[in-house]
Amino acid sequence: MSFDRFPGFWVLLARGLTRRCPWCADRRAYFTGWFARQDRCRRCRHPYRRGDDAFELGATTANIILTFLAVLVAILVAVLVTLPDIPTVPVVIIVSAVAILGPVVWYPISFTLWQAVDLFMRAPDADELAGRIDGEL
Ligand SMILES: [Zn+2]
Repeated sequence: MSFDRFPGFWVLLARGLTRRCPWCADRRAYFTGWFARQDRCRRCRHPYRRGDDAFELGATTANIILTFLAVLVAILVAVLVTLPDIPTVPVVIIVSAVAILGPVVWYPISFTLWQAVDLFMRAPDADELAGRIDGEL
């Protein structure tokens, strides 16, 4: 699949955050289930690793950042809603639940989000844009 015009940063980011392929915007691009991942986009056949064996490290980092942001939002909401008498134990339980469930909830999104960031940071060359990418996986 070739692209006449490569998407801009915000388009890539929006596609990544909505679990779409940053390249072609296919909704179920790399995931057949919440945890079931395939190596290539089912529509454009673009490999998510792009020749980089450490892709999962970036996706894990994206997952940690998203989870920490969710924890921060949970703390802020809990504190602001219950001011001035903050119930510490329920707040800790709720925030702990967010911290434990966060990585599960963000799992597929962290992959597509990291691919969007990776595509923005390492702009594809002419061969990759033309779909002439092989053997990375
Ligand atoms: Zn795709």
